Amino acid sequence: MKTALVTGCNRGIGLAIAKKLVAKGNLRVLAAARTTDTAGAAVRHIGPGALPVVLDLSDPEEAAVRSAAIEATHGDIDILVNNAGILVPGRGSDVAIGDLARSLTINTMAPFALIQALGPGMKRRGWGRIVNVSSSLGSFAEGLAGPTAYAISKAALNALTLSVASALGPTVKINAACPGWVRTRMGGPEAPRSPEEGADTPVWLATLPDDGPTGGFYKDRQVVGW
Ligand code: NAP
Repeated sequence: MKTALVTGCNRGIGLAIAKKLVAKGNLRVLAAARTTDTAGAAVRHIGPGALPVVLDLSDPEEAAVRSAAIEATHGDIDILVNNAGILVPGRGSDVAIGDLARSLTINTMAPFALIQALGPGMKRRGWGRIVNVSSSLGSFAEGLAGPTAYAISKAALNALTLSVASALGPTVKINAACPGWVRTRMGGPEAPRSPEEGADTPVWLATLPDDGPTGGFYKDRQVVGW
């Protein structure tokens, strides 16, 4: 049975991703949230097959140490879904530098730190799947149309996806996914997609077959422009 670590599991798209992974029946999910309480609540929602783990991404180096400790406790992590993220509103050069730093820390550097902590083990074992939950709001091809700090951090997340893919090799597949505009605390109530719909492409990428792609950016299971 393979094990998946999903960050930001306590609500929104992360919760839906965890539920769908567990529903496959052959996966164990380490449901990561910032606190013991929220991780425990997440697991009660997800059901059997999920275990709570506490992982705060505010300090990427600490998160890397913590994720290695989680792996030491629970066994090999085969699938990493970097789902947790923040969106700070505001466009243009008036955006506070601290908001940009926070966005880069949580949306880009923390995923990178977890990849550094868990990717080498996947590579050594010859199997791994990494999904970076990104956004078309951070796509150059779509004009980086999102709030500035968010767009920059997701563009950088896309860049890191492509940049590390070849080093991880063909057996560890790393891809970025845009879930679409989804009804969550971040997406708001007007969004057209349910969290379950938003979870579809990340779950597909998390469970790719051995001949599946790596180093790409996907929405609705189709390649989209960086
Ligand atoms: P959400 O409902 O706001 O959930 C965000 C999740 O990230 C929560 O579980 C939150 O935990 C966690 N998180 C935030 N800061 C954290 C930190 N420092 N350490 C650990 N966890 C932290 O957002 P969502 O809509 O489900 O978004 C999930 C992913 O999809 C994000 O990467 C987002 O950028 C991406 N996305 C969303 C949409 C959309 O329309 N919703 C569109 C494109 C991409 P707490 O509850 O503890 O804050």
